[in-house]
Amino acid sequence: MNIIERFLKYTQFDTQSNEESDSVPSTSKQLVFARFLYEELKHEGLEDVTLDDKGYIYATLPANIKDKVPVIGFISHYDTSPDCSGADIKPRIVNNYSGGDIELSEGIYLSPGKFPELLQHTGEDLIVTDGHTLLGADDKAGIAEIVQAMVFLKANKHIKHGKIRVAFNPDEEIGMGAHHFDVEKFGCEWAYTMDGGDVGELEYENFNAASAKITIKGVSVHPGYAKGKMLNASLLAAEFVSMMPANETPETTEGYQGFYHLTGMQTQTEQARLSYIIRDHDREKFEDRKRFIKRVAEEMNAKYGEGTVSIEVCDQYYNMKEKIDPQMHVIDLVLKAMQEAGVAPKIKPIRGGTDGAQLSFKGLPCPNIFAGGINFHGPYEFVPVQSMEKAMQVIVKLCELTAQYNK
Ligand SMILES: [Zn+2]
Repeated sequence: MNIIERFLKYTQFDTQSNEESDSVPSTSKQLVFARFLYEELKHEGLEDVTLDDKGYIYATLPANIKDKVPVIGFISHYDTSPDCSGADIKPRIVNNYSGGDIELSEGIYLSPGKFPELLQHTGEDLIVTDGHTLLGADDKAGIAEIVQAMVFLKANKHIKHGKIRVAFNPDEEIGMGAHHFDVEKFGCEWAYTMDGGDVGELEYENFNAASAKITIKGVSVHPGYAKGKMLNASLLAAEFVSMMPANETPETTEGYQGFYHLTGMQTQTEQARLSYIIRDHDREKFEDRKRFIKRVAEEMNAKYGEGTVSIEVCDQYYNMKEKIDPQMHVIDLVLKAMQEAGVAPKIKPIRGGTDGAQLSFKGLPCPNIFAGGINFHGPYEFVPVQSMEKAMQVIVKLCELTAQYNK
């Protein structure tokens, strides 16, 4: 089976996750695919194939050398985004893409006018949707690439490699992919998530993240008799917002610039609540931001009385760079693997978080490598076959280069 057939088969399973659900995995249909994948890995001759009751699949490609070399792993998630239907996906291959509009269904076009990334892939074979569902290349392309690479290594015994572990997990799209990941059982020195976008992407910096919940207590009095007595929590909320830096918001920042994002406000005269998220790649600046928003609350209290404004700041996740920096060989090996596979690296900081960030803080350094898909989470999602093949080659090269690394 080639990588295209493998990927197309995976897209036939609806594996949408659900953020409203409390079960693990969040939807039982994910387990249907997990069982299929479990059988496939056994059928392809991988060893120690396990599927736990939470939907986590682990498997091993044994070493074909005697030397002791680092055990590394590759990880992908099999759920698809709750933002768009993943049922009844009808993928289609556009061979030798010419650079024009692609009609997905009557009146629905995937057009380079709207998605200029398409033009980087002229002459390639694009797997597209029918315009009514997502494709699920995020992240079933990653799974197809990993499985195909393992099958390739099994068939090409002249390529020497150490023990390789693979893992596939549910519920990444609802931020729960790393929660039940058994780092100890996985047993790798480091690993890679194959969950990035366009060919060449390599990510090992993400935001440090915190949330802040602000509660403001007002005093409600009949407006006709309010002089000198009313304290309007709605106006205090507006004042609080005005004390935050107006040019440090998601819509005014990019690259390494951090921000405060007002995600919600509910206000009445009696009480107001504000919700913020705080993001910064730099740990020092991140701590400064948390101190700043607390100081705004203190200033409000100094003006309106102690206890008027209360604030709760909670850390959410941290920048994995902290954990990668002391082990830069994890990145150097990818750069070398990309070079040998003829892929130009595109390194960029993630303005968000990843499962790999959480895994890095659980003791498994885990950068993110491209899987090739573009326009995730919607009906315009597509993946060039050539990008998937490159990703698979990068995995094979990484296995090979890691075996030479200790020498
Ligand atoms: Zn993904």
